[in-house]
Amino acid sequence: MSERSRANADAVVIGAGVIGAAVAFELARGGRSVVGVDKGPAPGAGSTSASSSIIRFSYSTPDAILTAWESAAMWRSWADHLGVVDPDGMARFLRTGNLIFCTTGYDGSRIMELWEELGIPFERFDAEQLRRRFRGLDVGRYYPPKRIDDPAFAADATGELTAFYNDDSGYIDDPMLAAHNLAHAARVNGAELRFRTEVTAIEQAGGRVTGVQLSTGDRISTPVVVNVAGPHSGLVNEMAGVTADMRIGHHPLRQEVFAVPAPAGWSLEDGGPLVADLDIGQYFRPQAGGTLLVGGTEPACDELEWIVDPDDFNDHTTVEHWETSMLRLARRLPEFGVPTRPVGLAALYDASDDWVPIYDRSSLDGFFMACGTSGNQFKNAPLAGQFLRAIIDASAAGHDHDAEPVQFTGAVTGRTINLGAFSRRRAPSPTSGTVMG
Ligand SMILES: Cc1cc2nc3c(=O)[nH]c(=O)nc-3n(C[C@H](O)[C@H](O)[C@H](O)COP(=O)(O)OP(=O)(O)OC[C@H]3O[C@@H](n4cnc5c(N)ncnc54)[C@H](O)[C@@H]3O)c2cc1C
Repeated sequence: MSERSRANADAVVIGAGVIGAAVAFELARGGRSVVGVDKGPAPGAGSTSASSSIIRFSYSTPDAILTAWESAAMWRSWADHLGVVDPDGMARFLRTGNLIFCTTGYDGSRIMELWEELGIPFERFDAEQLRRRFRGLDVGRYYPPKRIDDPAFAADATGELTAFYNDDSGYIDDPMLAAHNLAHAARVNGAELRFRTEVTAIEQAGGRVTGVQLSTGDRISTPVVVNVAGPHSGLVNEMAGVTADMRIGHHPLRQEVFAVPAPAGWSLEDGGPLVADLDIGQYFRPQAGGTLLVGGTEPACDELEWIVDPDDFNDHTTVEHWETSMLRLARRLPEFGVPTRPVGLAALYDASDDWVPIYDRSSLDGFFMACGTSGNQFKNAPLAGQFLRAIIDASAAGHDHDAEPVQFTGAVTGRTINLGAFSRRRAPSPTSGTVMG
């Protein structure tokens, strides 16, 4: 065996998306020698590059809300969190506020109850207040969301909506740059990152991970491997042979997101908020250049596009999704002029059964996972890195995280986040059953 092929590391992180880079960063600043391995060309070039990078707090469980709230503080003071300034530029948090419509099956009562309990500020709006505050908004109730070939698609509203609003929400202006920033900070703390290199096998002996094999022919000996392979993480878990004791499944799910001209009142410059609208089955948010980003919220009428091989899916937008998104948006924002040409992307979530991520150990000692991020964990990357470090440190100290889940104390609120909420062996969480989590 050559010297090169016998490299050692305290930990190998598979994947350098925004969460993989955060895990590498936290393990490196905790004093471990870390090698990050990514088969793509650069940090965040996988599903992170397609992210809408929305930062909001509207989850269904206290642990999920606290995770997003604590992470938001890190995004707001990004350079302080990283401890370095990336010479290639720093991702920025842009505050827009978040308007959330209350509709059938998503009345917001649980979220508002939790926000009150956790001290997250919000306002409620009735239909008249919504009309006064947000220009050109149709506040009609159209539930349920419909396909455009449904004769009821153009039916009149059956009533009017109420909504609630949090002013602290927003988005990160460049998700791939955010991953680059984390990768830079990991390197400054001594991590080595290898790109265009695939992990092809997980080595193990006596019920413990011992190393990884790489597509380059090299192998790295290590007692800790973290699977942060995004939509490929199910394949990596299978490679490691750790799926048998998992009670929560996670699979690649295809999504399309479009960029369209923002109508007056809804651009970033106008102070337009990001909007969660499960009444029509869409979310939208402003972004630079006077445009809106528009994505879906998995309404029951839309077939979910599960993908078997994450390296083989249609990564172009389709006419069907484009027309559906545009006509749905036109119901809510009637001044919106449907553009003649689609601009958008198709990408993959790694969606878990209950739309809650898995941040956990596995049945194989030394093998950990941060996966099932369900289209809603970009915002939580900074804390996800710290969660994995806490679980890995506890396991190294002999703690049984399965029997007694690690409790994490949030730096901002001082509250406890039960990391058992993200266990691979949890009973499915009671969530919205959509990307809203
Ligand atoms: C369209 C879209 C919109 C989204 N919008 C939001 C949003 O508004 N807000 C929010 O919070 N979240 C959102 N998300 C979710 C969020 O972006 C993801 O949860 C997050 O980016 C996942 O990061 P990751 O590092 O886990 O995975 P990825 O970014 O997918 O990185 C995984 C990496 O693993 C590498 N890899 C895979 N297999 C191997 C292997 N065998 N060996 C080596 N490398 C490997 C890949 O090359 C890839 O770079 C969205 C996601 C998508 C797709």
